[in-house]
Amino acid sequence: MTFLFNSDARRGAIFAKAFAEDLPDLPFAMDAAAVDPDAVRYLITWAVPEDLARYSNLEILFSIGAGVDQFRFDAVPATVKVVRMIEEGIVRMMQEYVALAVLALHRNLPAYLAQQRAGEWRDIPQPQVQARRIGVLGLGQLGQAVLDRLKPFGFPLVGWSRSPRQIEGVTCLHGELGLEDMLAASDILVCLLPLTEETRRFLNAELFAKLPEGAAIVHTGRGPQLDHEALVAALDSGHLSAAMIDVTDPEPLPFGHPFWSHPKIILTPHIASVTQPATAARAVIDNIKRHRAGLDPIGLVDRTRGY
Ligand code: NAP
Repeated sequence: MTFLFNSDARRGAIFAKAFAEDLPDLPFAMDAAAVDPDAVRYLITWAVPEDLARYSNLEILFSIGAGVDQFRFDAVPATVKVVRMIEEGIVRMMQEYVALAVLALHRNLPAYLAQQRAGEWRDIPQPQVQARRIGVLGLGQLGQAVLDRLKPFGFPLVGWSRSPRQIEGVTCLHGELGLEDMLAASDILVCLLPLTEETRRFLNAELFAKLPEGAAIVHTGRGPQLDHEALVAALDSGHLSAAMIDVTDPEPLPFGHPFWSHPKIILTPHIASVTQPATAARAVIDNIKRHRAGLDPIGLVDRTRGY
């Protein structure tokens, strides 16, 4: 029985130490060429390896990232459990990033940066928090954690998911019927949806038109969820006021793309939240123990939903 780590050596060394301490009976390998493929029961990776079929006794395929949209599910046998990364480092970093973005947009930072570049000293009318409604698309582990971190600021909060959710201090709406009301109540819209066939190009011209005049966007889901041209058009028309974008399609964003220099866009290179190896190793070890005890791992992916 072997755990195969298929990612960078720096993170691998941290995983190896944690496994040696806490699961000493499970051999830990980082060199796929040196393992007996039949012995591999667990594999952690970013993308599904081309030669996955050689691991005929694989039980769990772990994603090293929070999403699994990069996985080709058709290449993974139905008997193999697919598990996404749920660990406290990812959650904390996403809380930090979205708080940063929401506050930057609330306090008109993109406009002040443009004024600074133009040498202009002028104040912009500042709505107070009670008048700045924040909407979060996706009420999973990250959407909920972000809402929790935003609560103390006093913004009215609304969230949207596929199925009904109840979160204290948050107006929760769901499904197609709830979407229009949610958008109409979002002065700053945060996207934390997983990428699936249903959410591809979800942030498009039609959706932007349903947001209040002057609304702003924070995009920390996945690049293909955003219609990039529609965003630029909505910003240029003045319907949207600003956007903070962490994920694009493609990544890296090509040189010369309008996002690089748009005065109403703050762009970051997919750094909102990154798997932290020490806490990720702990989460994976706990999941292997759960699996050995006959329990479902935390973060088990429902392949029919795609997340
Ligand atoms: P999660 O726990 O699986 O939650 C997903 C949420 O989205 C759930 O509330 C789900 O609804 C909702 N949802 C999914 N499809 C929907 C649809 N078609 N209509 C309405 N709601 C839908 O995911 P998570 O851990 O919070 O992560 C969310 C995403 O963040 C990841 O998939 C990844 O793409 C992204 N991410 C980005 C970064 C970065 O650095 N930028 C880092 C980490 C993660 P239900 O509650 O009804 O299931």
